[in-house]
Amino acid sequence: MSYFLKDEITCPNCKKPKAPLNSLCGTCFLATMGIPTEPKKSRVSFILAWYDFWVGFYLDTNKRKLYILPIPCVGIVIQL
Ligand SMILES: [Zn+2]
Repeated sequence: MSYFLKDEITCPNCKKPKAPLNSLCGTCFLATMGIPTEPKKSRVSFILAWYDFWVGFYLDTNKRKLYILPIPCVGIVIQL
């Protein structure tokens, strides 16, 4: 019984783990909606820097990341 339950929590499309009640994993579900999801290729991500109250640009040369915060605490990070 537990063997079959274990089988059901993998996505039938990509074989990755998924939520038990969903038919597909999140990535495949978005793909069927026409939304491309390529998280590993994405070089831009959003940040919510609640701990950092500033506006402007910051270049982290060690991590090669450019932080852009047009409004306090909310901005984007670009992997350089
Ligand atoms: Zn999938």
